[in-house]
Amino acid sequence: MPTETRPQVRPATEGWQQQTDADGRPLLQFAAPRRGKPPVHWADLSVTERQDKVAELGLPRFRATQLSTHYFAHHTSDPAAMTDLPAAGREELVAGLMPPLLTEVRRLTTDDGATVKFLWKLHDGALVESVLMRYPGRVTLCVSSQAGCGMNCPFCATGQNGLTRNMSAAEIVDQVVAANRALRRGELGGKGADDHTPDRVSNIVFMGMGEPLANYKRLIQAVRTMVADQPHGLGMSARGITVSTVGLVPAITKLTAERIPVTFALSLHAPDDELRDELIPVNSRWKVDEALDAARAYFDATGRRVSIEYALIKDMNDHAWRADLLAQKLIARGRGWVHVNPIPLNPTPGSIWTASEPEVTAEFVRRLNAAGIPTTLRDTRGQEIDGACGQLAAAD
Ligand code: SF4
Repeated sequence: MPTETRPQVRPATEGWQQQTDADGRPLLQFAAPRRGKPPVHWADLSVTERQDKVAELGLPRFRATQLSTHYFAHHTSDPAAMTDLPAAGREELVAGLMPPLLTEVRRLTTDDGATVKFLWKLHDGALVESVLMRYPGRVTLCVSSQAGCGMNCPFCATGQNGLTRNMSAAEIVDQVVAANRALRRGELGGKGADDHTPDRVSNIVFMGMGEPLANYKRLIQAVRTMVADQPHGLGMSARGITVSTVGLVPAITKLTAERIPVTFALSLHAPDDELRDELIPVNSRWKVDEALDAARAYFDATGRRVSIEYALIKDMNDHAWRADLLAQKLIARGRGWVHVNPIPLNPTPGSIWTASEPEVTAEFVRRLNAAGIPTTLRDTRGQEIDGACGQLAAAD
C-alpha cells in the first residue's frame, strides 16, 4: 500500500486530445482502417511461393534461390547487380518481384555517427521510422510494425493520430535489408578499431512505430523470414529479436504457441491497475496480472527470460511502493524468469512526462535488485535525435 507522501501525477495528454469511445474511454483500434495494400514483394512470399512465382513467369525454379541470395544475403534489389540472371527482361522481372517499398525521406545521425534514424515513406505516403544503433560487438535495429498505432497511450507521439495501417511482412523485413545496405556502404559510424564483427544488423527490437502484436500475422511472417537460413531469409538468431508489447494477452498466448524463441518484452510501466488503466489504455482490456501471467507462460514455454520495460516518469510511476509492488508481483510468479529494464525518460522541463530524479531512479532500481529481481537501467541511445522508441517517447 502507498505510504509515501510524494505527489501522484496522473497521466494526461499535453497539447493534444485523446480520442475516446462511446463510453468515454480512450479509443482502442485493433483493426486497421481499409486502405490500399502495399504491393506484394518477394519477402512476402514463402520459399515455395517464390519458386512458383518464377515458374509462372517461365523461368526455372532455381532462379528463385538466386533472387533470394541477392535480396536476403547481398541486400540488393538492383537488377544491375544481378548479373547471374539473364540480361533480357531482368529489369522488368526484378521490378515486378521486388517493387520498392520504402523511400528514404530523411536521415538523422548522431554526432558520433553510431546512431542513425531513418524516416521512410511507404507506397501510400504513410511514414514510419527505424533506428540503427551500433554497440560494441553488435548492431541493433529498432523497427516499425504499423504506420501509426491504435493503442492510444497518452505519452506517445506515435499514437496521437491513431492507426493508419498495418505494415506488410515485406515492409517490416525491408527495413532490415535497407539497414544492412547502409551498413555495407559504411554509413553507420562508431565502429571501434578492435570491433571485428561483420557489418550487418545482429539484433532487432520491435519498438518502433506500432504495437507489433496488433499486426500479429505479418509480424510472425516477418520474424520467420528474419530467422530463416540464408539465402531464403536473413539468417538471424531468434534470440537477437525482441518483440515488445503493451500487453495484448491473447496475442502473447499465440506468440508463446509459435515456439520461436524470440526475446519477449512487456512494456508494463505500472504495477497497479489504477495507474496502468490511464497510462496504457489497453490495460482496460487485459489487467496487469493477466499480462504478467501471459509473460510467465512465455518463459515456461520458451525458456527465454522475459524483459519488463518500465519508463520511469517523475512522480507518476516511480514511487518506492510501486517498485516493491512490482517485485512482489514478479516474485509471486517464481524466480529467474524475468528481468526489469527501467528506462529513464528524457528530462522535459515543465511537462508532466519528465524524467524521475536520479536518486528516485536509483532507489527504484535498488529495491527491485534487493528483492532479487535482476534490474538494469536501460540505455536510452537515440534520444539525442528523438529516436527512442515510441513506447518511451513523451509528448513534446
Ligand atoms: S506507446 Fe506503443 S502501444 Fe502505445 S500508442 Fe505508442 S506505439 Fe502504440
